[in-house]
Amino acid sequence: HKPLGHADVPKIKAAIAAGDTHPVMPDHQGLADYVAGDGYETLKALRAQGDWEEVQAEVLASGLRGLGGAGFPSGKKWGFVRANPGPRYLAVNGDEGEPGTFKDRYYLERHPHIFLEGMLIAAWAVEAERCFIYMRDEYPGILKALRQEIAALEQAGIVEPGYIDLRRGAGAYICGEESAMIESIEGKRGIPRHRPPFVAQVGVFGRPTLVHNIETLYWVCKICREGPEVLNSVELNGRKGLRSYSVSGRVAKPGVYLLPAGSTIDDVIAAAGGMVEGHQFKAYQPGGPSSGLLPASMNDIPLDFDTLQPHGTFIGSAAVVVLSDQDKARDAALNMLRFFEDESCGQCTPCRAGCEKAVKLMQAEHWNAPLLEELCQTMADASICGLGQAAPNPIRMVLKHFAGEV
Ligand code: SF4
Repeated sequence: HKPLGHADVPKIKAAIAAGDTHPVMPDHQGLADYVAGDGYETLKALRAQGDWEEVQAEVLASGLRGLGGAGFPSGKKWGFVRANPGPRYLAVNGDEGEPGTFKDRYYLERHPHIFLEGMLIAAWAVEAERCFIYMRDEYPGILKALRQEIAALEQAGIVEPGYIDLRRGAGAYICGEESAMIESIEGKRGIPRHRPPFVAQVGVFGRPTLVHNIETLYWVCKICREGPEVLNSVELNGRKGLRSYSVSGRVAKPGVYLLPAGSTIDDVIAAAGGMVEGHQFKAYQPGGPSSGLLPASMNDIPLDFDTLQPHGTFIGSAAVVVLSDQDKARDAALNMLRFFEDESCGQCTPCRAGCEKAVKLMQAEHWNAPLLEELCQTMADASICGLGQAAPNPIRMVLKHFAGEV
């Protein structure tokens, strides 16, 4: 199954010129092909006589954690949602707005039905009355494919018409934050909610809601079809499981690489074909701009959940961006803060004003480190959501690891 690439651009432009706003579908696996390989048999068997707690135990045994970036154990979430009275909903986070992240796209462009079956299994497990898929509008080909495949599922009688509600995002990064996404699904401006109550208690339209990322549901299906060993039998550097690293920057072959969760940055760069010729590895962003930058000398850390915390960062959605000796860490950090300034929803002052002030301070030739640190602390302590709380990370990490540049 061939993903879309640069060669498809003329075809896409021609179709848009002809009036088709969603012109090109990826060459994905369709329903007939998926069913021919026993697709949806697991779902049917579970619906007929499955025990949700057995499935939950398998998901827990696999070690699957939320792959949108938060890393919360997936099986545990099911229990929290089930603990609240119905009607319950399931909401899929397909916003994939973290710069450098494109793994959900990778899986959807090839195997949308593995994700869809995983979603329906999770929906069955929590007795969800409806599924909302919040899909970023920047993936028009995927939206088109999903529309087609959801219609095929309805026609085949696998889901009731309207059971799966496909919603389009409108390009706001903050709508990848689960409570802002829920506001957006409800038709409101996408701004994060205060918690508690958590979305497992009060989610879409006030109902208990299970929120999962696309890739997480892809693995739910794999676990149910192939057993928890599909993840927990892989071990490297004391870490279990697999990670889909979205790798970009100064590597020879940017792309999505499925590697053991204990992989180090050296392993990830090697998988991506090594550095681009003439470039020396200098620094890396381990998991999106909120994770900041680590120097090349810190190349022995397994890039997994929990392992990066002692170094003041995290793996998030595993969006690895590699910088070389031809890049400046301070420029990269400024770029990240400009992004946060643009994408701040503006609801709270520490983030709204803090990102703006940080950008101004970072443009100075010599950074005022004490003032920046004071600002960082205020933002981290007093912002409502993860955007403002983590936005100081790139600043702090440049001050710590690349002080010579500022
Ligand atoms: Fe909005 Fe930023 Fe406050 Fe989050 S931290 S609620 S993005 S202003």
